[in-house]
Order: sequence, then structure tokens, then C-alpha cells
Amino acid sequence: MARAVARVDLDAVAHNVRTLAAAASGARLCAVVKANAYGHGAEACARAAQAAGADWLAVAGAAEAASLREAGVGGRLLVMGSLDDEDLGLALAADADIVVWDEAFLAALPSTARVHVKLDSGMGRLGTRDPVLATRLVEQAGARLAGAMTHFATADDRADPFMDEQLQRFTAWVGPLRAARPELVVHAANSAAILREPAAHFDMVRPGVALYGLDPFGEDAAAAGLRPALALVSHVAAVKRCRAGESTGYGRRFVADRDTVLATVPVGYGDGWRRATTGRADVLVGGTFRPQVGTVSMDNITVDLGPAGLDEVAVGDEVVLVGPGLSAEEVAARSETINYEVTTALLPRTARAHHRSGIPAG
Ligand SMILES: *Cc1c(COP(=O)(O)O)cnc(C)c1O
Repeated sequence: MARAVARVDLDAVAHNVRTLAAAASGARLCAVVKANAYGHGAEACARAAQAAGADWLAVAGAAEAASLREAGVGGRLLVMGSLDDEDLGLALAADADIVVWDEAFLAALPSTARVHVKLDSGMGRLGTRDPVLATRLVEQAGARLAGAMTHFATADDRADPFMDEQLQRFTAWVGPLRAARPELVVHAANSAAILREPAAHFDMVRPGVALYGLDPFGEDAAAAGLRPALALVSHVAAVKRCRAGESTGYGRRFVADRDTVLATVPVGYGDGWRRATTGRADVLVGGTFRPQVGTVSMDNITVDLGPAGLDEVAVGDEVVLVGPGLSAEEVAARSETINYEVTTALLPRTARAHHRSGIPAG
């Protein structure tokens, strides 16, 4: 039996692609599959997204683009991140589009490169803050120009008006460009912006987190019509009595105040189950919520089954850490992070099992 498995429903990914495409009606959809598709498995999710109608794929780094191509994934592919010389060679060899914001970088690109000029409308990370330079880059790109883009800093916070400010800045810059060059692909919206602001859709949208059925606002994915794709499942590996006064785990952070029964579950931060969940998460053991107790270690967690645990739980019983009834949003809230990080944190030691509504995907 695998220690811990991330079961990923590719039908859910397909459903989410269609839901987001409908929300962004008219715009093309670029499925963001960076960071191993937020932990869900890049290749399988890329193919599922394409089959469901995604026109483009996007990743952060050139190596991610190269590995998708090595796996035989075709179609338009955008590398959104920064590129050093070596990365640039990889990205171009992968026939990926790349992002530019610097004149010297652009000048050195071959005539066959395809570029997207990025205006930094307020994210303050990549892109140029200067719309005049951005327009100059557009002119200098010539036939290499494929698109124009920006990225929002606060789309996930509905109450924050900064997104409108960014949208105004981007629209003011891109408006005349769009009129002059209607073939360009103009894109700005991440998941939250797609759901929140139709004016941000332009020609293409770039959903990441919502593709996986995670709510970009950290609230209720179902309310947005999204289906969570991932369940993180392990099992009970050992069950033992713990007398009052006995403890479990490093640092003895849990000392039983009554006789109880503990289950040991073979998943830990070496699998991507964050140590920050120590003392703060419940897991589902055979369908019943049970508190995780003691320090999360690299390879195991322990769960308090209560005094009747030996009668109620057996070795081999399924343990759900994320799944139906226990959302990534809830795990995130309990461990002071965001749903993005709960799934993206899953490490290679966690097996990925892709399926379509329960039927193994080959
Ligand atoms: C990661 C990323 C996205 C996707 O963001 P989500 O919030 O996951 O939808 C879109 N655009 C850029 C530039 C990104 O880095």
C-alpha cells in the first residue's frame, strides 16, 4: 500500500476548464500548469486541459516547458518567468513563447522567437513599469510579437480596489495597441480575475489554481462551480494504546490527559504534509474526523482515535487528509497558508494517481 497518494480526478480538471472558459466567454484559455500543475501532475493535467478546450499552456520556467515537450505535449506554450541564457535556449528549443520587458534581451532574440510584452501595472515583480518602454518593445519586437500581458496583485481580495487601478493602467496602454494589432493575444486574468472581473478577460485568460478546483478567494470552490481535483489519502499503519501521561512525537508536544488510542499514519513533511499543521488539523479516519496530535514529522503523523479507538479503527483503514469533506481551503486556513500551497507542497514521494471520475487514467 502506498504511504500517501494524491488522487487526481482529470474529469474535475476538464470540468473546471469548461467552467472557466464559460465564465470568460469569448476569450481563449491558457491553462497554467506550473509547479507540476500545483502538485497535481503537469503532464496529465496539461493533456486533460487541452482535451477540454484549453488553447494554450503556461509554465513559470524553461525546464518545465522542456519536460512537457519531452513528454510529448504539443500546442502553444508560454514560459511566463525570467530566463537566463541557458533557460532561453531551453525555452526556444521547446518552441515556447516567452515574456519580454527589456530592450537588450529582446534585441538578442532570434527572428523566430515569439514574445509577449509585459507591462508591470502594479504587481511590482516582472515586466516594465514604463508604458512608453513597453510600446517601444512592441515596435522593436516586429514580427516576433505574439502578445501583450500583465498580472494582478490583488485580484483574490474582492475588497481591494487596487485591481481596478491595475486594470485601468493596462487598458490605457493596451487599448491603442489592440486596435492597431488585432491579431495580438492580450491577456491579464488569473483565476480570481476571471471570476471577478469580465473587463479583465481580454483575448485570453490564464487560470491556474481554479483549474484544480481550488477557490482563488480561499472560500468555497463549489460556489464558483469548481470541482476539487485532488484528494490526499493515506492509511492507518499502526494503532496503539497511549496511557494518560504518555506522549507521541518529537518534543512531546502531545501528552495524553486520558487513556486513549493513537493511530500512526505514514505521511509527513517529507511527503509534503506541512509541519505547520501540527496540533491544528483534523483528518478523516474511515470517514470520521479525528484530531492530528503531536508534531508532524518527516515520515509520520499521529492521530488521536479516542478511548474506543481499538474497536473503531483497524490497520489499513483509509485516512483522508484532503478530499471530500475536508477541503484544501480548510487545511490552509488551519495552517496559516493558502490552498495553493497545500497542493503545491506535495513532494515526489507522494504518489500521483490520475483517474477520471474514479476510473484509473492510463
Ligand atoms: C501563476 C500565474 C497565473 C495563475 O494564477 P492563479 O491565481 O493560480 O490563477 C497567471 N499568470 C501568471 C503570470 C502567473 O504567474
